[in-house]
Amino acid sequence: MTTLRDPLVEPLGKKASDTLEKVFGLRTVGDLLRHYPRRYYTRGELTPLDSLSEGDHVTVLARVAMSTVLGEAPRGSRYQQGRGPRQRLEVIVTDGTGKLQLTFFAGVGFHARQLQQGALALFAGTVSSFRGRRQLVHPEYELLPAAAAESLTSEIAEEFATELIPVYPASAKLTSWTISKYVGAVLDSLGPTKDTLPDEMRQRYHLWPRELAIRAIHRPQDREDLRHARKRLKWDEAFTMQVALAQRRHAAAAMPAVPRPAADDGIAAAFDRRLPFTLTAGQQEVGEVIAHDLACAYPMNRLLQGEVGSGKTVVAVRAMLQVVDSGGQAALLAPTEVLAQQHYRSITALLGPLATAGQLAEGQLAPGERATRVALLTGSTGVRARRSALSDVFTGDAGILIGTHALLEDQVQFADLGLVVIDEQHRFGVEQRDALREKAQGSRPHVLVMTATPIPRTVAMTVFGDLEISTLSELPAGRSPIATHVVPAVERPHYLDRAWQRVSEEVESGRQAYVVCPRIGDDAGGEDGDDSDGSDVPEPGAEEETKRPPLAVLDVAPELAEGPLSGLRVAIMHGRLTPDEKDRVMTAFAAGEVDVLVSTTVIEVGVDVPNATVMVIMDAERFGVSQLHQLRGRVGRGRNPGLCLLVTEAEPGTPARERLDAVAETGDGFQLSRLDLQQRREGDVLGSAQAGRRSSLKLLRLLEDEDLIAEARQEAGPLVALDPELEFHPALKEAIDDFLGDRRAEFLDKA
Ligand code: ADP
Ligand code: MG
Repeated sequence: MTTLRDPLVEPLGKKASDTLEKVFGLRTVGDLLRHYPRRYYTRGELTPLDSLSEGDHVTVLARVAMSTVLGEAPRGSRYQQGRGPRQRLEVIVTDGTGKLQLTFFAGVGFHARQLQQGALALFAGTVSSFRGRRQLVHPEYELLPAAAAESLTSEIAEEFATELIPVYPASAKLTSWTISKYVGAVLDSLGPTKDTLPDEMRQRYHLWPRELAIRAIHRPQDREDLRHARKRLKWDEAFTMQVALAQRRHAAAAMPAVPRPAADDGIAAAFDRRLPFTLTAGQQEVGEVIAHDLACAYPMNRLLQGEVGSGKTVVAVRAMLQVVDSGGQAALLAPTEVLAQQHYRSITALLGPLATAGQLAEGQLAPGERATRVALLTGSTGVRARRSALSDVFTGDAGILIGTHALLEDQVQFADLGLVVIDEQHRFGVEQRDALREKAQGSRPHVLVMTATPIPRTVAMTVFGDLEISTLSELPAGRSPIATHVVPAVERPHYLDRAWQRVSEEVESGRQAYVVCPRIGDDAGGEDGDDSDGSDVPEPGAEEETKRPPLAVLDVAPELAEGPLSGLRVAIMHGRLTPDEKDRVMTAFAAGEVDVLVSTTVIEVGVDVPNATVMVIMDAERFGVSQLHQLRGRVGRGRNPGLCLLVTEAEPGTPARERLDAVAETGDGFQLSRLDLQQRREGDVLGSAQAGRRSSLKLLRLLEDEDLIAEARQEAGPLVALDPELEFHPALKEAIDDFLGDRRAEFLDKA
């Protein structure tokens, strides 16, 4: 009898367990049983070869009768351009009733080795016809073991004990069939497994017992079994995750923090009096919630999400000033140099004399007003400025420190760090949040993280499940919505001319523009790397014409300056400029000394130049939906309406073009973020948000399973409140350990 935690070597022996570990990283019985089937073939669905009709999607069980490689192997570029004879593999298979041809254009050598004469496999694909013969082009297939190939149908029928044949994620070295055999052996040896969910809860949600679900997902009798099994196992994923997060919240709330209550007449109050605008209702409300959090004796852990331009910075500054008023300090961490510098400029400007403690300008303070100092620290801060910033922060003279990753260095020591603010949080991992937090000595600082990439509710509940969440959904009054249009460069070339005219017109009336390109240029790589998936087998039937590389800043800028935008002051901005150069360009642009800024996505987040009203995004289909939304948030930040033009060569009706149309049609970042999530794998979302960690979610889908996740979250809170260490839920505790694996320490202990 084995348990889920036993190593695979026990039930399977050394050879099999070594292979499973090497190929899929599976070490324990539980690991293998969480290697769920990718799909299931229904035996009844197998189609006899003599009854295939064109256009049907079929699964057939057949044996290879003949396999032939035709054409010449590609040699050098002449062939790759499609002028030479193309190599292909033709395979004839038979099931005794009829024959069928299979054709492969890609991976010819590989498939030829797999599909040798006599091999038996399940083939799936859509029937087409070629020169009067029915064929499958690039069918999916699963090889069956050699023993089964001896006698075709009768023995196979016995081999499949169940109606539904599971198909596992497999590789050339480890076929689905072999994995299925291993799973069978492991299931046979599996002893009684304790349930992770309390009985009472299981009944309320009509969930199957855990062991039954584990067995059924691998060996379902019918689709109904499968539905129950999947539902139960999804619950396991959602619930273990939510309980782990609830434990993290619980632990965090038990940590002591220094209360930083608001002062009646401090710098914060003076700041509010000086604000050149009225706070929106949302800013006011969130501000009150945060002010209350800060006054508590346990640390605030809050995520502030808000549409681009919703005014999160002001909310953060008010929180920072409350902390300064109560004798503490605040740090603001920004993801880029450009953004840190901009924050420094705009925050000191908003503070005016309130930021000039110990300086001449302090004289401009109103009677009774006090001041603090704001320090800036980035990778490019000069030696002297750096020394003085470090010293001001160390002595406490500087109440606010703004900077990039440089803030995380050891030399940065605070007199009394009370609040950590992280801007554009999606650019950072949990590690950075923790590193900065550690700079508060003795107790925990309060933490406010901000993001303008709206997060669907379930992602918020999973990735950021340990944070309380506030949302700014309203834009400051007087903002006009950004009009977005797709400019089809191929079908309507004159639209592009018109776009440049619009840019000129805006500049003539005193405004400024951005032109965004996907690449810097003059080199092989792009700013964001390229997005090829690294596979060397071309897509079946893929055209082999060469695609032009994405447009580059260094090419587009001079073309515009000498062509359609001649006479305008054009500058460039990209990641390869030195920090000094970046600062100079941004300062000049903010001061209106540059009309058109041709840039990569370095300006994606946070950049705030209200006089910029037009943005032209070149090769727009190269960007993600949320990224486009972020980018266009750079315009229309002032009183004048913003215009965003998405220039693309993507053809109407293609998925790329549809994404652009969606961005043009809606200005709702939340809706777009759902769209983004639909198009990416959950793992990517969780992965990037958590700085590249592997996701433990196998069955759970963040959008589809929104309700289930919400229910699991609701159940997790009370359970952890009553039994924080899970002493009375040992099986659940074990499941959480397995779920978190190596991440346990950082996940829980650093809460
Ligand atoms: P984001 O939430 O995208 O970070 P910012 O904090 O950069 O937005 O604010 C965008 C712009 O709106 C800034 O220029 C800021 O000064 C301005 N702003 C913020 N709050 C208000 C308000 N209540 N009324 C008018 N303008 C505001
Ligand atoms: Mg911002």
